[in-house]
Amino acid sequence: MQGQATSDGAGVKLVRVLTQDLQHRLDPFLMLDAFGTDNPGDYIGGFPDHPHRGFETVTYMLEGRMRHRDSAGNQGLLVPGSVQWMTAGRGVIHSEMPEQEDGRMEGFQLWLNLPARDKMCAPWYRDIGTAEIPEWQGDGVLARVIAGHSHGVTALVQRETTQVLYLDLHLEPGARFEQPLPTEHNAFVYVYRGDLAVGAGEQTVRPQRMAILANTPGSDGVVLKAGADGARAILIAGRPLKEPIVQHGPFVMNTRHEIIQAVDDFRAGRLA
Ligand code: MN
Repeated sequence: MQGQATSDGAGVKLVRVLTQDLQHRLDPFLMLDAFGTDNPGDYIGGFPDHPHRGFETVTYMLEGRMRHRDSAGNQGLLVPGSVQWMTAGRGVIHSEMPEQEDGRMEGFQLWLNLPARDKMCAPWYRDIGTAEIPEWQGDGVLARVIAGHSHGVTALVQRETTQVLYLDLHLEPGARFEQPLPTEHNAFVYVYRGDLAVGAGEQTVRPQRMAILANTPGSDGVVLKAGADGARAILIAGRPLKEPIVQHGPFVMNTRHEIIQAVDDFRAGRLA
């Protein structure tokens, strides 16, 4: 499956890998954007001040530097290999701006839904430095554990309700990686370098493509195998919330009424 080329913020070019029509199939994940460019014109505008309510954003940088500032007074600098985890909860207004005028900018932003009871929680924010992300090393495999746990390695961030797993996988040529996954969890793999064979049928997934993993009875994990040039991919999985999803731009709630309230609160300056 291929993402949609789009732009967001002040004209930042990106590929929307997880689009709105996949929100139910990939519940609790609402969106995944991949950005990767050597052309400053594609990113220099950044994402000026904008609001969020009702979910979490997880930004993972591969290359480049991005400065974050929000209405709660937090600020941080994303550098290669680091993560910013932001729980918008009842609301933040923030900006995400490049802190470079040339060079490569590459990474991902995942939107993770919050359960209904947590949507109006106090905002929370954490920068996770490159050295703070634990890694598991296997035969020809490096797994950076951004959320959840894998092969006995536990990430800094755990989510009790959605049990999110977020791995960045670096596979040498021909290397194999297995990850058990609970049957009912929704999961997908996005390949960003090389070719990766996914599952028993060894369907080959090419770079800039996403594979949605089966969640049918008997699906209890995934086996990945890198092609001749090795591969790099992110593997993301979580337990579905099975709650109504109503999205209006940067607000994701359970009902239309809550969306109207979010827009009203934003316009009245009550969001931040
Ligand atoms: Mn944002």
